[in-house]
Amino acid sequence: MSAIDSLPPLRDVIRAHDLRARKSMGQNFLLDLNLTAKIARAAGDLTACDVLEIGPGPGGLTRGLLAEGARHVLAIEKDSRCLPPLGEIAEAYPGRLTVLEGDALQIDPLVHLTPPIRVAANLPYNVGTELLVRWLTPGTWPPFWQSLTLMFQREVAERIVAQPGSKAYGRLAILAQWRSDARIVLQLPPDAFTPPPKVSSSVVHLTALPEARFPADAEVLSRVVAAAFNQRRKMLRAALKGVAPDIEDRLISAGLKPTDRAEQVPLEGFCALARAVAET
Ligand code: SAM
Repeated sequence: MSAIDSLPPLRDVIRAHDLRARKSMGQNFLLDLNLTAKIARAAGDLTACDVLEIGPGPGGLTRGLLAEGARHVLAIEKDSRCLPPLGEIAEAYPGRLTVLEGDALQIDPLVHLTPPIRVAANLPYNVGTELLVRWLTPGTWPPFWQSLTLMFQREVAERIVAQPGSKAYGRLAILAQWRSDARIVLQLPPDAFTPPPKVSSSVVHLTALPEARFPADAEVLSRVVAAAFNQRRKMLRAALKGVAPDIEDRLISAGLKPTDRAEQVPLEGFCALARAVAET
């Protein structure tokens, strides 16, 4: 019998440990192990990797990651009620699962991880977006992670992979696509979760590129993109007035039309503009 078969079904685990989902913790659990195996497979080849899992809950995805051969899983969970069931999984996979209790926004996981590292999580959406932005904007590139496989509400997932010309295109798309390959790998209806959330969800897989797709200073790019999309309906020359007094000239030298709107500008255009703005 494999380790995963020696563990009780997740519904029994939830009953035995009285793990009623708490709204305050953003808890919508995945109890179908076929589905969690699918998500674990979407994370790529785990056999030579340490995997950082945020918010393991009762451990459905954790089981998937271990069964798919993760060398080691470091799981960070805020709800102490989940620790006993996670302990049972750790016993079934000796030496391969470490669980830390705490808030993923406060804990530095790196001391517990050995590269190469992949990240996988089904997290509350607000925490997921905040962590994603942090993971995409480290002090130096390449980052500590090789890939991120993350569940988001569908609307947020669409913002991550959005292309110019669409309503979803904005800061998140540029941030994600500048230094990583981002794609939606799985769509999930609300009833895939217990309890079901109000909206559909998607799993996004991001692979870190060794270098940015186009050269630009990260801080300048971020400032230009934030200003451009804060007033996305305005023409660039108006939206970016505060970025540089001679912004019209800089837009033209970047090959952009001052009358364009942020939504029309491809990633390459924003990088050219960030370079033009950085010029003294
Ligand atoms: N991964 C599990 C699954 O797929 O069934 C649980 C998913 S549930 C959407 C989110 C999990 O993240 C919960 O177990 C919750 O307790 C945990 N969580 C919420 N906020 C957290 C935080 N700031 N740090 C770590 N875990 C958190």
